[in-house]
Amino acid sequence: MRKCPVCDDVSLVEVELQGEEVDRCPQCNGIYFDQGELESIVEMIQLFLSVQLEENEIDTFEASEVSRQMKCPADQSIMEKRDLGGHVMDVCPTCKGIWLDDREIAMLKITEYHIQQNLNLYLRLGQ
Ligand SMILES: [Zn+2]
Ligand SMILES: [Zn+2]
Repeated sequence: MRKCPVCDDVSLVEVELQGEEVDRCPQCNGIYFDQGELESIVEMIQLFLSVQLEENEIDTFEASEVSRQMKCPADQSIMEKRDLGGHVMDVCPTCKGIWLDDREIAMLKITEYHIQQNLNLYLRLGQ
């Protein structure tokens, strides 16, 4: 069973978003994307727009990046911070999986248009 890289000893739950299986933490609402799932990231983000956050919740997030070391849920590699078109995300150097936490999902919501315009940056991760 895959564990959340943020929460202690919380197992990720497989959920289906737009026909793709992703792993979601029921405690912190973080989501782990396997490499092959990246192609649907924009569609997933659009789904988040409808279900995730109210605008006033976004304001509560800190702008500063919290320093932390996370292990990939799939293979336990230490995940690296990558700047993807202005968004810092945790990317596994081994399997290219991506972890998005609650705050990062909110950031994505704010700049969804930015993601769509920079889709090539995201897909480049899979190569
Ligand atoms: Zn968690
Ligand atoms: Zn990995």
